[in-house]
Amino acid sequence: MRLSRAFLPTLKETPAEAQIASHRLMLRAGMIRQTSAGIYAWLPLGLRVLRNIERIVREEQDRAGAQEILMPTIQPAELWRESGRYDDYGKEMLRIRDRHDREMLFGPTNEEMVTDLFKSFAKSYRDLPRSLYHIQWKFRDEVRPRFGVMRGREFLMKDAYSFDLTPEGARHSYHQMFVAYLRTFARMGLKAIPMRADTGPIGGDLSHEFIILAETGESQVFLHRDLLDYDPLSEAPDYNSDLSPQVEFWTRRYAATEDLHDEAAWNAVPEAERVSARGIEVGHIFYFGTKYSKAMGLQVSGPDGAMVTPEMGSYGVGVSRLVAAAIEANHDENGIKWPDAIAPFKLAILNLKVGDAACDALCEQILAAFPDDAVYDDRGERAGVKFADADLLGYPWQVVVGPRGAAAGKVELKRRATGEREELSLEDALQKLR
Ligand code: ATP
Ligand code: MG
Ligand code: MG
Ligand code: MG
Repeated sequence: MRLSRAFLPTLKETPAEAQIASHRLMLRAGMIRQTSAGIYAWLPLGLRVLRNIERIVREEQDRAGAQEILMPTIQPAELWRESGRYDDYGKEMLRIRDRHDREMLFGPTNEEMVTDLFKSFAKSYRDLPRSLYHIQWKFRDEVRPRFGVMRGREFLMKDAYSFDLTPEGARHSYHQMFVAYLRTFARMGLKAIPMRADTGPIGGDLSHEFIILAETGESQVFLHRDLLDYDPLSEAPDYNSDLSPQVEFWTRRYAATEDLHDEAAWNAVPEAERVSARGIEVGHIFYFGTKYSKAMGLQVSGPDGAMVTPEMGSYGVGVSRLVAAAIEANHDENGIKWPDAIAPFKLAILNLKVGDAACDALCEQILAAFPDDAVYDDRGERAGVKFADADLLGYPWQVVVGPRGAAAGKVELKRRATGEREELSLEDALQKLR
């Protein structure tokens, strides 16, 4: 992409309304634009990051055996009356009436809808187990939408739902998602730690939140230091095997949010191993048994002919929140430092002298080698402006092409995360970037 033709409305000034780094940086980098309180338009750069996160989430859901569907954003109130949540959900639910005066709502989550959907197809135990997921916009009329897309009112969530014949089966489905989540966040270059959590209005007895540590996190968390050192990608899981050993590695070490913090258990952790920090909730998984299947009359015939009420779980990932959370965990005073896997572009090509034949030719060659992954700064701006913008926007690599180097066929390669720079021939630079 050529910057001279891009729709990339960066801001020079720090927007006054933004209180945390990710919100400031997303506005300054021209990633999003607020259209009303807690509702955002995604601009090209922000959308690319959102799509990268979505892709990783989708790949890991598929790998764990979940199947993608797409349910609508607008739901009928009746479904929520069946489960009993229509009144309980309160003011966070955006309620709408259509022209026939039918009560509708903009979905804040989809347990009811997916249970109803599944009910129309599942007849016997052979239709179980199944896991379904979708990646769809949600609306919650948050009392205090803030911190940009971190706590929006409209936000993108991946939500998955599992249906099993037995509690043991449901536990396995829960473990599959537990492991899939560890991999999902690790692939994004993020450390998200599973912590025991309250089940809240979803109900049920087994639940974990996946939390990224960051100073601006909204909850206080307590965990064993070991959990920060382990790499979930070090072994590939077999989703058909018993996953309890992997899950137990995480659950037998202390990790809890303030809601479920247990001082006695915490004091049993050696002092040097205790980490207490602020955290951002990026995922949340629940096993809630037959809460919805029972309320909504979902039943299948069991192997012995008797009717069985399936056991369910639900599993959410805050896809749009992750864009902000990744920035909270990866930035410095100059701007964003994107993890490679979710960066909007892999590299920026900085032409320090547009119009210089050697510089222009080198830059065009690099762009041609990375047609989809490179941003070419071909604007008639000063070098300082280009450096500052590339640091702000946080591309993992910067390829700096100046007249002196270009005359000798050389470019400078800068790694944004570490600040390391080296001068290389064009071939070596391309080699290194591939
Ligand atoms: P929070 O505690 O932050 O309000 P929640 O516990 O209400 O979140 P869940 O119902 O568990 O949220 O939804 C699953 C995921 O959706 C959360 O883990 C979070 O990543 C994301 N999410 C929830 N609310 C928002 C929001 N207002 N804006 C952006 N993402 C959100
Ligand atoms: Mg909430
Ligand atoms: Mg929460
Ligand atoms: Mg939650």
